[in-house]
Amino acid sequence: MIETDIAVIGAGPAGLMASIYAAHKSAKTVIIDTNTTPGLKLLRTGGGRCNITHSLPINEFIKVYGDSAKFLRFALHDFGPDKTIEFFEKNALKIQTDEHGFCYPYTNRATDVKRVLTDIAESFRVKFQMASKIEHIEREKRLFILQAPKEVILAKAVIIATGGMSWPQTGSNGDGYKFAKALGHTIVNPKPALVPLKTADTWMHKLTGVAIDRVGIRAEFEDKKFTTVGPMIFTDNGIGGPAVLDFSRYITDYLAAGKPAMIKLDLIPDRTLDQIDNNLTDLCRMHPKKEIPGILSEFMPRKLALSICENFDYLKATLSGQLNKQNRRKLAEMLKGLQVKVIAARSMNEATITRGGVSTSEIDDKTMQSKICPGLFFAGEVIDVDGPCGGFNLQICWSTGVLAGTNAQKYTTALK
Ligand SMILES: Cc1cc2nc3c(=O)[nH]c(=O)nc-3n(C[C@H](O)[C@H](O)[C@H](O)COP(=O)(O)OP(=O)(O)OC[C@H]3O[C@@H](n4cnc5c(N)ncnc54)[C@H](O)[C@@H]3O)c2cc1C
Repeated sequence: MIETDIAVIGAGPAGLMASIYAAHKSAKTVIIDTNTTPGLKLLRTGGGRCNITHSLPINEFIKVYGDSAKFLRFALHDFGPDKTIEFFEKNALKIQTDEHGFCYPYTNRATDVKRVLTDIAESFRVKFQMASKIEHIEREKRLFILQAPKEVILAKAVIIATGGMSWPQTGSNGDGYKFAKALGHTIVNPKPALVPLKTADTWMHKLTGVAIDRVGIRAEFEDKKFTTVGPMIFTDNGIGGPAVLDFSRYITDYLAAGKPAMIKLDLIPDRTLDQIDNNLTDLCRMHPKKEIPGILSEFMPRKLALSICENFDYLKATLSGQLNKQNRRKLAEMLKGLQVKVIAARSMNEATITRGGVSTSEIDDKTMQSKICPGLFFAGEVIDVDGPCGGFNLQICWSTGVLAGTNAQKYTTALK
């Protein structure tokens, strides 16, 4: 049997950060994980480079979270992107920012982020209990009893940092929801997010692997307008890439309800409709004998240009000199708003994050403590908050982890 002040379930980024802040004033802290090593998913982040946060100024940073912003405001003001960078740099891991504002370790290695976190935790005597899966939690009087196959852990406070349900091969299989529910919490239906989308437009499926550097995606649902811009790639059954992953956050609710979503792809987001029309006019005038795909290849990969021309009758077997003013405008309009019918999101196994989780209405946003079960805290993706690509999801882990750890330590100190 292990007796401790604070038990942190889950040694992902949120749990590691929480354990550091739980232990830094000498509270006895144990961190438990199913995996044999901490931070398995962390090592996969940012393609192995770990995009730890984003450089946006704090007020704009908070807005990026949309519906989740209200709950995260305090945590982000308490320990935001600046403090995250300071934290790692103070611990000898220099951080660099790329042209999009994405922040990575200078070494471009997620392993270094993990090493910093585990080294600090160990320096504060956090006990790592790896290869141990918590199966059951209950509260008896003022203690939590955590049951693992080979051990029982008694703790005065518990931090649930078990992540969501996406990429379950890294250990996050939804256990945290089960524990939170058993202790009285409501779980907002978990759905895959930041995930590639399946489309009904089968002609696009033949474009698997074709990538576009910058695409705009827009749609309007129930009077709300949504847009994202960024790279996109065609997949075997739809579309993926950063612009699509970000956009998926807005439509997972519709898709989960079995409703298809009509979206529009702006294939040339950096030019206006009139500019494209003028560009087309000039190109057609200069190269009247050229086929339309040749003209369109000026704006996009040739394979996509060919596919578009095969699919729209008014473009089939047409030379650019034969394209009349009306059809030229129609083509420009299509390039600015190619209609796509999204029928589903790809599975949880492929989703970068989970949308949904422990309801924020039952967690104190200033401490991350449960409003229902004293001594119970939450950190990271297990909570019903999420952000877009760009370091915003790891920032949730750092900010909520710091609050959960700090306040779990205060809670256990007050019990003494
Ligand atoms: C491929 C990929 C790339 C990503 N890249 C980025 C990026 O660059 N930037 C960014 O901001 N976000 C990124 N994300 C999202 C980010 O990784 C997650 O938001 C983050 O890992 C969530 O951290 P967490 O600590 O809450 O949960 P997790 O990292 O999922 O950790 C939870 C831990 O809890 C453990 N656990 C679960 N149940 C139990 C149990 N019953 N007993 C014991 N242990 C348990 C699991 O084994 C796991 O180790 C990426 C995600 C993926 C999948």
